[in-house]
Amino acid sequence: MRNRTRTEITIETERILIIRKRKGSILTWCSTCAQQVQMIKVDEAATIARVSSRTIYRWVEAEKVHFAETPEGLLLICLSSLAGNRPSDNPE
Ligand SMILES: [Zn+2]
Repeated sequence: MRNRTRTEITIETERILIIRKRKGSILTWCSTCAQQVQMIKVDEAATIARVSSRTIYRWVEAEKVHFAETPEGLLLICLSSLAGNRPSDNPE
């Protein structure tokens, strides 16, 4: 039974790390959604959608996803719009 307790602690630690990682997302205004949404970086969007970064850029160009650009030129993807896309829609 001791082992079980230890396992639970490990899971808890991992979850905290995942939450910390998600802090990279930015809550910002999406003009297409017309509301505050979570915006994430292209590589994060690629990981979530399980596609390559190139596919994300293609979705941006095709306006399949909402996006915003920071003053620094960093491209951010609207998390709400990302949910509507599937990797199978865009075969490589
Ligand atoms: Zn949006």
